[in-house]
Amino acid sequence: MLNQLTATQYIQYSKQILLPEIGETGQIALLNANVTVVGLGGLGTLVAQYLAAAGVASLTLIDGDQVERDNLPRQLIYAESDLTKAKVDVCAMRLSDAYLDVTIVPVKQMLDVSNVDSLIPNTSKLIIDCTDNLAVRQVINRFCVNNKKTLINGAINHGSGQVFCFNFAKHTSAGCYTCFVPLTAKVEQSCATSGVLGPAVGMIASFQAKIAIEHITESFNQYGQLFRFNVTDNSWVVANLNRDPACSICRHHYLGEAS
Ligand SMILES: [Zn+2]
Repeated sequence: MLNQLTATQYIQYSKQILLPEIGETGQIALLNANVTVVGLGGLGTLVAQYLAAAGVASLTLIDGDQVERDNLPRQLIYAESDLTKAKVDVCAMRLSDAYLDVTIVPVKQMLDVSNVDSLIPNTSKLIIDCTDNLAVRQVINRFCVNNKKTLINGAINHGSGQVFCFNFAKHTSAGCYTCFVPLTAKVEQSCATSGVLGPAVGMIASFQAKIAIEHITESFNQYGQLFRFNVTDNSWVVANLNRDPACSICRHHYLGEAS
């Protein structure tokens, strides 16, 4: 547990420390934070880069994919020479080289319902869902509800992007991902099927990383709000997510309710 910054850290993170909502206390919180990022595509690579650069102490990165040529226009951490290499290995190498304060824990597996409990470490209190798979999002949501983790979910396709954050330990009125997207939902557009522009992915990833830093430094208070970006007309809409009292995932897990 780090409780004091070194002289080098004061210099390295000085522009963050100057922000009143972060300060020295917030920077120390970042340097003690343990975050898991699931999915190392366009969203996850940028999220991981921003969090490592901000000084997050430990990043568990989960992805079973290899780098492919059509990843390169938006997954900026990968280079031509990385084609066919495991994404987690490339990210671990690049981020460990660039940011000495971060420990990268690479997990070279696709997360699913059978392994979620073993792949996400208990010590990770914040899980960032950067996958583009509806079934996996439901698995991550259920894990976060059951273990009272904080979940930041981001998604994007050619027409719209969205971000929201649930704090299942402290914020109890917004429900969960399944309240918003029922388990019966099947149809989903993803980058793989509908195309997407790199900078639009970057906007959603940057927003996820910003919320993650704000959550860790205790300056975020918009849990349970949906931020939706219309890629076509460059407009944002913010809406409150409401809990579905009949939701099979979260109805038993809120404070004051029978378990
Ligand atoms: Zn729910």
